[in-house]
Amino acid sequence: MDMLERFIKYCQYNTRSDATSLTVPSSHNQYRFAADVLVNDLKAIGVEDVVLSESGVVYGKIHGNDGSIKNKVGFIAHMDTADYNSENIKPQIIENYDGNDIKLNDSMVLSPSQFPSLKDHVGKTIVCTDGATLLGGDDKAGIVIIMEMAKTLINDPTIRHGEIRIAFTPDEEIGHGTDHFDLKQFDADYGFTIDGGDIHSVTLETFNASKAAIDIQGFSIHPGGAKGKMVNAIDIAVQLATMLPGEAKPQYTQGHEGFYHLESLNGNCEHATMHYIIRDHDHTKLKDKKNYLKHLVETMNIRYDGAITLKMEDQYRNMSVVLKDHPEVLETVENTFKAMGWSYTHGSARGGTDGANLSFMGLPCPNLGTGGYNGHGPYEYVVVEQMSAMVDFLITMVSKETL
Ligand SMILES: [Zn+2]
Repeated sequence: MDMLERFIKYCQYNTRSDATSLTVPSSHNQYRFAADVLVNDLKAIGVEDVVLSESGVVYGKIHGNDGSIKNKVGFIAHMDTADYNSENIKPQIIENYDGNDIKLNDSMVLSPSQFPSLKDHVGKTIVCTDGATLLGGDDKAGIVIIMEMAKTLINDPTIRHGEIRIAFTPDEEIGHGTDHFDLKQFDADYGFTIDGGDIHSVTLETFNASKAAIDIQGFSIHPGGAKGKMVNAIDIAVQLATMLPGEAKPQYTQGHEGFYHLESLNGNCEHATMHYIIRDHDHTKLKDKKNYLKHLVETMNIRYDGAITLKMEDQYRNMSVVLKDHPEVLETVENTFKAMGWSYTHGSARGGTDGANLSFMGLPCPNLGTGGYNGHGPYEYVVVEQMSAMVDFLITMVSKETL
């Protein structure tokens, strides 16, 4: 099976994760894909010690063929796809892309006027959707890149390399990709998630992330006789929302600017709830944002007699804090970019990665791209040449000459 065949095959499996599910993994489809496809294909390639954990994580090893290399390097990709229609995915292959609109179906086009980065891929092979589903290249592309790396290393003993570890995780898209990740089983010194985006970028930092749940207890009474008695919960919610800095919202921020994002507001006069996520790359600034919200609630509670309850919870932290104590990881990446003759940039994710959690669990873990774009929706596409370039990149990274 060549790389493209494998990619098309994997994309067709519906492995959507489900944030509302209480099972582990969150959807049975993911477990079936892991058990029936990933485990068998890893074994067929010759990957050793292939294990599928009860929680749906697939582990494998490629043993080293050069004892002088001491680093154990791990590669991780996620098997689930985002919260978007994933039934009956029909990938379309566009060979020798001409730079014009790509017709997805009768009413939808994938257009460089909307997505200018398409212009960078003229002459290349693009895989896109039929407009009805996502593609699932996020992150089947990462899985396939790791599989192809494994195949090449196992088939070509002239490439000298150390111990290599592989893992495919479920439920990354719903924030539970590392809940059941067994670092002992994985047994690597450091790792890389291979997930989404430009292949000329290494992601060394993520947001610091917290969430806030706000509960407002009102007092409902007939509006005609409400003076001095009614406490309108949803009115308090609206007041609170407008007192947060108006410019610190996702739609007005970029780069290293953090935000408060109001995810939901529900309620009536009697009772209201609000859910916020709070994000900042800078840990002190995140703390300031949390303190400001706390202060605001305390102040409003004086006026509204304790009607507002605020609960905040930290979600993940910026992995750059961990990575700066492991310069050898960045050095490996930089050596590889140099060996490939590629220019590269240090990216900062405006979100989290499984690698952020893994870094704090003890496995330094930046992210590398796959050549996949516009994930999580019908305009998702991958560039096949970038996927194969990434296979070469990983092989170069683990080979004796680079490490
Ligand atoms: Zn992803």
